[in-house]
Amino acid sequence: MERTKPLRDIRSLSIEDLSELTSELGQPAFRAKQLKEWIFEKNVCSFDEMTNLPKAFREQLSERFSFNTPVEIAKQVSKDGSRKYLLQFSDGTSVETVGMPSRNKLAVCISSQAGCSMGCAFCATGLAGLTCSLTAQEMVDQVLHVAHDFGERVTSVVFMGQGEPFMNFDNVVDALRMLNAPGGLEIGARHLTVSTCGIIPGIKRFAELPEQFTLAISLHSAVQSTRNKLMPGVKKYTLPRLHEAIQQYVEKTGRRPTYEYAMIDGVNDNNPEMEALIEFCTGTLCHVNLIQLNDIPDSPLKPSPMEKVETLQRRLTMYGVETTVRHSRGGDIDAACGQLKQRRNSAKKIILPNA
Ligand code: SAH
Ligand code: SF4
Repeated sequence: MERTKPLRDIRSLSIEDLSELTSELGQPAFRAKQLKEWIFEKNVCSFDEMTNLPKAFREQLSERFSFNTPVEIAKQVSKDGSRKYLLQFSDGTSVETVGMPSRNKLAVCISSQAGCSMGCAFCATGLAGLTCSLTAQEMVDQVLHVAHDFGERVTSVVFMGQGEPFMNFDNVVDALRMLNAPGGLEIGARHLTVSTCGIIPGIKRFAELPEQFTLAISLHSAVQSTRNKLMPGVKKYTLPRLHEAIQQYVEKTGRRPTYEYAMIDGVNDNNPEMEALIEFCTGTLCHVNLIQLNDIPDSPLKPSPMEKVETLQRRLTMYGVETTVRHSRGGDIDAACGQLKQRRNSAKKIILPNA
């Protein structure tokens, strides 16, 4: 028996392709513009929603094309309103995405890869290894899914789900531009944040982009031996080289990078660690985000007590380093990186609120 081939995603067509298709189907030229608006500006996910197109034309389109949007295979809703999704793409790959609402705002955390090759010791995704890199459309689809689910405009996006964005640089930049594009989701460049574990060539290329995208660096320790243990995948990008690359980024862009620092009990929260972090930051343009490590089941690494987090914040502030203590959102729904997926692999069924 012949296997049916999946239909091509209409969103993979260029504007020129849409014009050609429109004339091939005997439609006037302005229909191509309407199609473009529905697909790339209004971001609809079905032909039925294209209400100003003739029904017969919509039917012709749906016989030849589809919208290969991801399928939601699990969703958890936190008490604080955050929603965490496990989304599956048409090739069977699945990733995590989180929507975090707050007053008049909707932030979305997306994945840039399924899994991650960097192997950070404190990260559930890192422990599971890399499956594949995502396409730009797959990254944008995560944002669209959350926007549709909340029925709200997305105001910011962080690339802090699964994966290392700078190991998938070109697709990430394409996705940033799609999210930022006028007429589309129109999310301001400053509200689009890419987080990297410190891939120096990526930081250099990012500094060259004309848009004002925001950069976050997962630092987690300013002591080389500790960082090597926590983040073995970036050993070769040593702290002095990382510091230099970030200073070049600041000089070139004038923008303030953020350092992510997850505090781990007895590992990066002692006096020498605090002093090293202060030295790394003092006198530079940066913002430090301190967070208590998210507990990963079966891991020997545990979160630092809150007093230590507050002590470090006070000390950094004393040295003039802007510091915020972040409270992990959705703690009751396994919001730590990679955890929903891990649990999904070990248990058959997951709670599906709102189902
Ligand atoms: N690969 C990129 C982006 C994805 S990870 C990066 O590492 O920056 C997003 C953020 O979550 C990073 O700052 C990462 O270090 C942090 N993270 C991973 N596991 C964590 C955990 N168990 N607790 C707290 N933060 C964690
Ligand atoms: Fe990858 Fe980031 Fe997790 Fe490290 S922290 S394993 S780089 S996703």
